[in-house]
Amino acid sequence: MHKYIIMGPQGCGKGTQAKLLADSFDLFHISVGEIFRWNIKVHTKLAARIKRIMATGRLVPDEIVEEIVNRRLTEHDWNYGFILDGFPRNAAQAEFFLESYDVDAVIHIDVPDSVVRQRVMARRQCSQCGLDYNLMHHRPVVETVCDVCGGTLVTRDDDSEEALAKRLHDYNTKTLPTLELFQKKELVIHADGTQSIEHVQNEIREKLNLPPD
Ligand code: AMP
Repeated sequence: MHKYIIMGPQGCGKGTQAKLLADSFDLFHISVGEIFRWNIKVHTKLAARIKRIMATGRLVPDEIVEEIVNRRLTEHDWNYGFILDGFPRNAAQAEFFLESYDVDAVIHIDVPDSVVRQRVMARRQCSQCGLDYNLMHHRPVVETVCDVCGGTLVTRDDDSEEALAKRLHDYNTKTLPTLELFQKKELVIHADGTQSIEHVQNEIREKLNLPPD
C-alpha cells in the first residue's frame, strides 16, 4: 500500500501528477480544493461558509478542512493507499494528520513564483464538466469552449492577481515550513515542476522507487 502527500504552490501541476499516480497505482485521490469546489458547484450548506474565503485566496479554517479529510479517510476503503493533494497546508493541519495517520513519502513539486504567476493566469476550467485547461500548455480548440462537453471555459474565482498574491504568500509562509516537519522524518522527495508533465511524473516515480510510466 502507498500513502503519499503531494505539495507545491498553485499551478505547479500537483493535481495532474496526483491523478496520474492515482490512476496507475489505484490510489484514492483526495483533493481538498476539488471537494470544496464541488460543494460550491452544488450549493451545499458548507459552500456558504467557504465560497468567499476561497474566492479571495485565503485558507479555509482548519476545523473544516480537518473534518473533510478525516471523513474521506475514514469513509473509504483505500486498500491500495491514498494520495492527499493540497493538504496539509500549515503546521496545525500537519500535526492533526500525523496524530492519526502516517505517510510513506511527501512529494514536493518545486516551481518558482514567477512561473506560478504565468501558469495560473493562463488557467481555465470548464464550468460544466470541471475539466482543466491551460492556455499555454493545454489549449482548447476554441479558447472559451470545452473540447469534451462544449461547456463554457471560465477562470477560477481564486485565480485573480490579488487572490494569487495572497495564496503565494500563505504558501511560502505557512505551507513550506510544514515541509520541514516531514523533512526531519526524511520523508520528502523533490521534483522540478518546471519540466514537462511526463518528465515530472517520471522523476517522482524514480525517486519513490516506482516503475516508470
Ligand atoms: P487548491 O485547489 O488546492 O488550490 O485549493 C483551492 C482553495 O481551497 C485554496 O485556495 C483554499 O482556499 C482552499 N483549500 C484547499 N486545501 C486547503 C487546506 N488544506 N487548508 C485550507 N484551505 C484549503
